[in-house]
Amino acid sequence: MRTMSIPRLELQAAVLGTRLMDTVKREHSVAISDIVLWTDSKTVLRWIGSTHRRYKQFVGNRVAEILESTKVAQWRWVPTADNAADDATRSQCHVDLSQKSRWLGGPAFLRQPAGSWPQPEAGFKRVPDDNDEEEMPSEFSLVAANDFCISLQRFSSYSRLLRTTAWVRPRRTCWSDRHSGSDIRGLAPYIDGPGVLRAYGRVDAALCLPYSARRPIILSHKHSLTEMIVHHFHAKMKHQNVDATIAEIRTRFWITKLRRVLRKTISACNVCKLHRARAAPPIMGPLPKDRLEANGWPFKNTGLDYFGPLLVKVSRHTEKRWVALFTCLTTRAIHLELAHDLSTDSCIIAIRNFVCRRGPVHRLRSDNGKNFIGADREARRFGDVFESERIQRELSGRGIEWVFNCPVNPSEGGGWERMVQCVKKVLRYTLKEIAPRDHVLVSFLIEAENIVNGYHEVPP
Ligand SMILES: [Zn+2]
Repeated sequence: MRTMSIPRLELQAAVLGTRLMDTVKREHSVAISDIVLWTDSKTVLRWIGSTHRRYKQFVGNRVAEILESTKVAQWRWVPTADNAADDATRSQCHVDLSQKSRWLGGPAFLRQPAGSWPQPEAGFKRVPDDNDEEEMPSEFSLVAANDFCISLQRFSSYSRLLRTTAWVRPRRTCWSDRHSGSDIRGLAPYIDGPGVLRAYGRVDAALCLPYSARRPIILSHKHSLTEMIVHHFHAKMKHQNVDATIAEIRTRFWITKLRRVLRKTISACNVCKLHRARAAPPIMGPLPKDRLEANGWPFKNTGLDYFGPLLVKVSRHTEKRWVALFTCLTTRAIHLELAHDLSTDSCIIAIRNFVCRRGPVHRLRSDNGKNFIGADREARRFGDVFESERIQRELSGRGIEWVFNCPVNPSEGGGWERMVQCVKKVLRYTLKEIAPRDHVLVSFLIEAENIVNGYHEVPP
C-alpha cells in the first residue's frame, strides 16, 4: 500500500469531521446556531481557504466536499498543544483519559467566550506556499477580458499564449460580461474569487469529478481565445473523434455552441485538410492499339480470362467447372467456353473451340496478374496454372500472337475483367439451381453470352 503524506491524512481528518458534523446536524433536534470546525493543520486550512489555486485530484475533491457543507470562515486553527484530539494518539503515560479529562470533556478554552479562543498566527494565511506539491501547475490562469494587456491575435497557439501570459500577468484577470446572456442561460453562471465566470454545473454533486469539470469555465464561442483553446484540444486529441474532443474540452470549459466551433476548427485545420485530401487518380496510359482498331473484325484481338469455379452436378455428386471468357478487345463482344478443369489440355480445347467458331484471331492477350483463382482458391498467375509453352505452341501453330499483359498497367487488362463481372451478374440471375448439370450450365453460359453481347436488343 502507498503511504499517505501527513497533510493528506490531516485533510482526510477534516473530511471526516465535516461528515460527522453533517450527521450530528441531521440527527439532532436541537437548533444549532453556529458551528466551528477546528484543525491544527495550517496546510489543510490553506487548502480549504484557497480560492484560486488548483490542487491535485485527491486534495481538490476533498476540499470540494468540505466546502459543500461548510464555509471557509467556520474553519479555525487550534494550536497543537490545545488540540484534544491528539491525546488519544500520544503514547505518554501521563495523558489523562479520565472522566474529567479534556479528551472526553473538550479543551478548556471552549468554555471561555469565543473572543478568547485561539487566534490564528497573524498572516499565516497569506504566506504563499511555493513548495506545495499538491498544487497543480497553473494550466489556465486567464479568461479573456476586453482590457487584456496581451493581444490575442498575436498568438497562434494556445499553449504559447498561456506561457506568455503566465510571465506577463500574475495579477487577477477579469471576465468581460459582454457575452450574450442567452447563450449561457440555464448554466447558473457565477463569478468566482479571481473573477472567472464558471457554470454551477448540473453534475455538481458528482464529487468523483475534478472541480474544473463540475464548475467549468464559461467561454463564448465568439472569442478568439475560444478558437485557440478548441484547436489546442483538437490537436491534443490527435485530430480524431469529434465527440471525444468535446468530452475532453468539457472537463475544463463550457463553450457555447462548442460543436459548431469545433467543426469550424476542423475545417480550417491544416493537418486535417491534408488527411481529407484524396490522391488524384493517375492519368491512364494510352490504350493499346488493338483496342482502337476500327477496320478489323470481331475477335481479331481478343483477351482471355478465366473465372470460376462453378458447381455442376455429375450423377450424385458435384464437380467444379471453370469458364474461359474470350473478349473482343475492340467491340467488347464475348465468347464463353466451359472448361472441365484447370488443365492445360482443357485450356487448349477451349481456345480451339473458340477459334474455330469465332476466329480468325490475330492476337490473344492474357492478364498475367495474380487474379487467377485456381482450384485451391489461392490467387495465382495465369502462367502458373497452365503450361505456357504448350499454349504458346498451339497458338503459334494457328498464327496467333500471344501477349501476356503487364499487370501494373491498369489501362490494359481492366476491360475484360469487367466483362467477367458482367457475366457473373447475369449468371446470378439465371442460375436458379446451385449445381445444375453440365449441359444446363452450358445452356446458361450461352444465354449469358447472348445477354452481355446485347443480341436481343437488335430490333426485329
Ligand atoms: Zn486537425
